[in-house]
Amino acid sequence: MVQNRIHPKTKRRYMNRMRDVIKGLSRTVLVYRQPIKSECPNCYYDKMTSRSSGRCVFNEDTVTGTGGKPPTTYQMIQAADARQALYDPNGNMATRYKYFSCGRCPVCNGKGYLETQRRRWIACLVTWDPNLGASTNNMTFTPAGTEGSTIVQLKTDPKNLDLFKNSSRIVVDGVECKLSRPPIIRGLGNQTTMVVTAFTTEKPKIDTDEIIKDYTGGG
Ligand SMILES: [Zn+2]
Repeated sequence: MVQNRIHPKTKRRYMNRMRDVIKGLSRTVLVYRQPIKSECPNCYYDKMTSRSSGRCVFNEDTVTGTGGKPPTTYQMIQAADARQALYDPNGNMATRYKYFSCGRCPVCNGKGYLETQRRRWIACLVTWDPNLGASTNNMTFTPAGTEGSTIVQLKTDPKNLDLFKNSSRIVVDGVECKLSRPPIIRGLGNQTTMVVTAFTTEKPKIDTDEIIKDYTGGG
């Protein structure tokens, strides 16, 4: 076992130093987890089309207490507003209940479900265009169709492994990125740091062709 040759004290010192380095030099990276989908509370979901059925939950069949008569449009609006007031008495949350007669649900915009974004700021050591080493062919894990995108390497605490593994996208220095391969744990002995490799999904705003054109035009 190679590990046994390293003195525990050395290991511990190395781990502590790596932690200090990450803490000291790190920038915060925004990690988006898969959004949570929940059925729209304001309309009926149509499983056949995977969309909103276009029918409001406040309708002639559900709004009662109208003396046996079908509810008027005004009564259905009132029922929805009352439900919204119950959900959000202070009036500072998003609309969840709003009457509509037919067509597009104003709460989910016809999707039939609501998405809750989940994101977290994580401290990482950020290296743009890392030299991944001549011994490893760094192009082997670049997904197809991403030629021309920039690689970014992040070093962070291994406790963030699951968060990164389940992320849908990340934002590094304001630039949208996607993970190019699962994160790897690196270090001596015990887990010390986790290395995340990602690539940009945004194209640069000015491409090099335009810059060259400008130069030739000016000269
Ligand atoms: Zn809806």
